[in-house]
Amino acid sequence: MRRISPTTFRVARRGTSREINRQIALNLIRERQPVSRAELARQMGVRRGAVSRLVEELLDTGLVFEGAKGESPRGRKPRQLYIETRRRCVVAVDVTFSHTVIMVTDILGYPLLEVSEIPAQSQPRRHVRELARAIGRLLVERPDVGECVGIGVAVSGLVDLEGGRLKYAPTLGWHDVDLLEPLKAATGLPVQVENSCKACVLAQVWAVRGEPPPDGPVAFVNVSDGVGVGIAVDGTLLRGAHNAAGEFGHVPLNLEGPRCSCGQKGCWETYVSKRAVVARYRGTDPSWPQSVQATSPTVEDIIARAREGETRALETLRETGDFLGRGFATIVKAIDPRRIYVGGEITAAWDLISATVLDSMRQDAVVRNCGETVIRIVSLGEHPRLRGAAALISVPAFAAPAIS
Ligand SMILES: [Zn+2]
Repeated sequence: MRRISPTTFRVARRGTSREINRQIALNLIRERQPVSRAELARQMGVRRGAVSRLVEELLDTGLVFEGAKGESPRGRKPRQLYIETRRRCVVAVDVTFSHTVIMVTDILGYPLLEVSEIPAQSQPRRHVRELARAIGRLLVERPDVGECVGIGVAVSGLVDLEGGRLKYAPTLGWHDVDLLEPLKAATGLPVQVENSCKACVLAQVWAVRGEPPPDGPVAFVNVSDGVGVGIAVDGTLLRGAHNAAGEFGHVPLNLEGPRCSCGQKGCWETYVSKRAVVARYRGTDPSWPQSVQATSPTVEDIIARAREGETRALETLRETGDFLGRGFATIVKAIDPRRIYVGGEITAAWDLISATVLDSMRQDAVVRNCGETVIRIVSLGEHPRLRGAAALISVPAFAAPAIS
């Protein structure tokens, strides 16, 4: 049951039920397109006339269009409804320690152009200026992608609840940076900034292709320069009071472990991040600061060596799998998710380590069945962070209306 807040409630008005039904129709079109009015009426269990009125409103918003007539066994050819993805685009931006990547997608998050990249920059203000210029160039050069409805920015770090301010990004070395306003001012476009893992989980639970996302709690774990976790419940992000919920990467596995970027010792991140994997392989100390970070071999190199049969590389990856499983068990104990999505370089080695990951997750889970949580890999080629950034802009139009 959902509590009605005595301070932020919204009283139902005459149009409220219609607003809710319109969003239901919009989401049915989104998930099952193309769909006819008659089909929509059947699925919603309402009369054809009621659906037609909702559809007219959706056509007026420009979110839906009526397409070519479909085939019908009785010879009558109903007009089909589609989500309008042809004239509008979203710019998705992923800001990481090593580089910033830009992708242009349609309103449902499908890539329209090749991904482009701008180099990392230690000065956040200069970086935002370069980013704005790159986005401007891209949209001028490719008018065929349509009108840009907004820029979604996914960033590794803690973003505040209110204004898209990056409070703290240890791997980037940025503190209290306003990303939203300067980018908005420079491009004249709406901008949303969010922690990359929160963006990633949002994209997964709102995905329309492939296996449908489950209801209930779902986690996305990104294992890369650091380890971030995003949690969503029934399609809504779990933010916490300061947008800091889900910092499992900084839950210690060992209080005497290596020094972490956050200042603590032995965080999960210090056992599974890229630098941790490389350090374990080389037999060096994975402790922060970054100045002692080894650049080679990379995690990708270690995976390649393991595939060539090198024992040390395979052991390094299996140990990483063991630590990953222990961290997953912590997530299971905290939120009992229906599914954990995993992104990052290590996913390329999943066939080598999945049995170890699952064994260690089962060993550490308190309740037996909880150790059976479904793990789904999201490969780097699927651009989970960029899809997440796009979702920041595209998802709100499909969300349920706030009514209490
Ligand atoms: Zn930490």
